[in-house]
Amino acid sequence: MSERIREKLSILADAAKYDVSCSSSGSNRKNEKGGLGNGHTSGICHTYTEDGRCVSLLKILLTNHCIFDCAYCVSRKSNDIERAAFTVEEVVELTMNFYRRNYIEGLFLSSGIFKNADFTMERLLKVVKKLRLEERYNGYIHLKTIPGASEELIREAGMYADRMSINLEMPTESGLKLLAPEKSHKEVIQPLAYVQRQIIQFKEEKKLIKSVPKFVPAGQSTQMVIGATPETDKEIMHTANEFYRNFGLRRVYYSGYVPISNDNRLPIIGSQPPLIRENRLYQTDWLMRFYGFHVNELLNDANPHLDIDIDPKLSWALRNLQFFPVDINVASYKMIMRVPGIGINSAKKIVQARQYGKLRIDQLQKIGVAYNRAKHFIKCADSPYQLKEYQSTQIKSFILAESQSKYLKNDTSQLILF
Ligand code: SF4
Repeated sequence: MSERIREKLSILADAAKYDVSCSSSGSNRKNEKGGLGNGHTSGICHTYTEDGRCVSLLKILLTNHCIFDCAYCVSRKSNDIERAAFTVEEVVELTMNFYRRNYIEGLFLSSGIFKNADFTMERLLKVVKKLRLEERYNGYIHLKTIPGASEELIREAGMYADRMSINLEMPTESGLKLLAPEKSHKEVIQPLAYVQRQIIQFKEEKKLIKSVPKFVPAGQSTQMVIGATPETDKEIMHTANEFYRNFGLRRVYYSGYVPISNDNRLPIIGSQPPLIRENRLYQTDWLMRFYGFHVNELLNDANPHLDIDIDPKLSWALRNLQFFPVDINVASYKMIMRVPGIGINSAKKIVQARQYGKLRIDQLQKIGVAYNRAKHFIKCADSPYQLKEYQSTQIKSFILAESQSKYLKNDTSQLILF
């Protein structure tokens, strides 16, 4: 690799690291005879850096030149930083070389906007076309849609990319106007809606004609920057819910604002650690998508912010003690999933196992229930029913004392520990 390419790589990979919307999940693109790579779900995995950011893909910008001046972005035009731009050929060569050496499992390609949206989108399109058609690359590709790019270019790019995403950036239009006055939510919504319509149309056509190509098979995602503007968690999650519902998104990513800019439009970061907030938002997202919670149950006018010291499922349970204790031996699957300390897999196993007899504490523990947490909210064949004796504040302090390190630690494993 030449010294200049090495330099570009260092600049443009560094500039790309603030975009967290790069999970490779959901692709089912398989290798073909004579091709290279495999974007199939089981063949591609991703990993995370210490602060939870994904690193398994070659994650780069085509360029960090940008005509826009978004206050939260390191590539904004008023920022005095070193600039670089890859050529189409350079990105293709890097991807192929890194893939062959097993350094990467896919490509995440984004870009600053140089000249205009279409000019930039055309270059991104050239990269993916060259990879797929000339290099016969079948690995995973996540391509950013450039806000304002024409539908023709987006449509063509969707034939080659596994996933496409466009960042909402700020959860509200007013927040976006404050920090990125050249952007609007409309510019994000239009392409998301367009890609969603195309995905549906391609799927319908494929049912009739087998040879119809795949279109964005791993779906779409978006990202919001959290903490740079004063939106509440309620506003953030209601926006996320709306986007999941309206555009069939696979993921919404929440990126805690990293203070990389001294732009005076930005707030001075307060005492709240952004990564813990980010973590709680992901947990809420998880509860909405997989645990059957409606966003209003978790965040509403009375509770516009998530608790930082406990996860949102426990927080909901403590505010709704009237639904507990849940009798494990008769309650619905939906209600069992709502018990703190019981995850989806444990809930499924409980429903299966109780067909053969009433479940006891030791059996619940074997099933994988976090009994020390769950015991305050359930009854089973031999459990002492304690709930009525305690207020929610007391239960909370028991649980925090019992699992101090788990609840106070800011680690990504909490994302699935309900
Ligand atoms: S348009 Fe994108 S790259 Fe350009 S300043 Fe805004 S966020 Fe950064």
